[in-house]
Amino acid sequence: MQIDLGGKVALVTGSTRGIGRAIAETLAGAGARVAIVGRDLSRAETAAAEIGHGAKGFACDVSDTAQVSQLVADVEASFGTLDILVNNAGLTKDNVIMRLKDDDWNMVIDANLRGAFASIRAASRGMMKRRSGRIINISSVVGVIGNRGQANYAASKAGLIGLTKSVAKELASRNILCNAVAPGFIATDMTAALGPEQKKALESQIPLERLGNAADVASAVAFLASDHAAYITGQVLVVDGGMVM
Ligand code: NAD
Repeated sequence: MQIDLGGKVALVTGSTRGIGRAIAETLAGAGARVAIVGRDLSRAETAAAEIGHGAKGFACDVSDTAQVSQLVADVEASFGTLDILVNNAGLTKDNVIMRLKDDDWNMVIDANLRGAFASIRAASRGMMKRRSGRIINISSVVGVIGNRGQANYAASKAGLIGLTKSVAKELASRNILCNAVAPGFIATDMTAALGPEQKKALESQIPLERLGNAADVASAVAFLASDHAAYITGQVLVVDGGMVM
């Protein structure tokens, strides 16, 4: 089975590093022209130049809905269309519930959940006109099972699942498919802070006995973006080595 995204345009938020970067590389490798999005323009442009295949860099803080609307307009103007939207940008600001500050709650919800809402709202207009589109939201297994010390992050990732299913139902008649990918523990900057003991403890909970890598998540996204997934919408594809089942 070959994934061919030739002629497609993809926008991947938070794609200068980590999982987003791997998604951008995989979609570009399958033939898509990719908008690389980071908060810092020069970093996004550098990543786009490294990825090649017609990728271009854009700056956007996804927690600012006005910036997100402008981003979608700029990407559509620059590439002429937008076929695949991947909401990957995300962050954590962990604390136990008693100590969780309003600012840390808001920062995580605004970037992880409101940012995705804003980009879907902006991108769906063109996708509806073209009667075609793929939206893929990067959630987390933490949004499915919760996690101590991550109430804000878990709420944002669970919110993304509700958003995904609602958008899938609302836009299916226009041939716009919306799915979520829920990674387990993936080796990136986000998990680099884990000590060897913590890493070992995590691996012992994973049937495949290893952390995932960014490419494992990127393959799932590329599949959902492709014609092979034409009859799949409103689903949560868990990519976690079997940890949550
Ligand atoms: P990462 O920290 O390496 O990358 C996150 C990217 O999002 C960075 O480029 C960052 O600059 C960007 N970003 C954060 N806030 C932003 C904002 N307000 N505006 C624009 N960009 C912003 O993390 P990662 O591990 O690559 O995570 C990517 C996605 O996968 C996130 O949504 C994360 O929640 C999710 N995820 C990661 C894991 C994991 O184990 N690493 C597990 C489950 C889900």
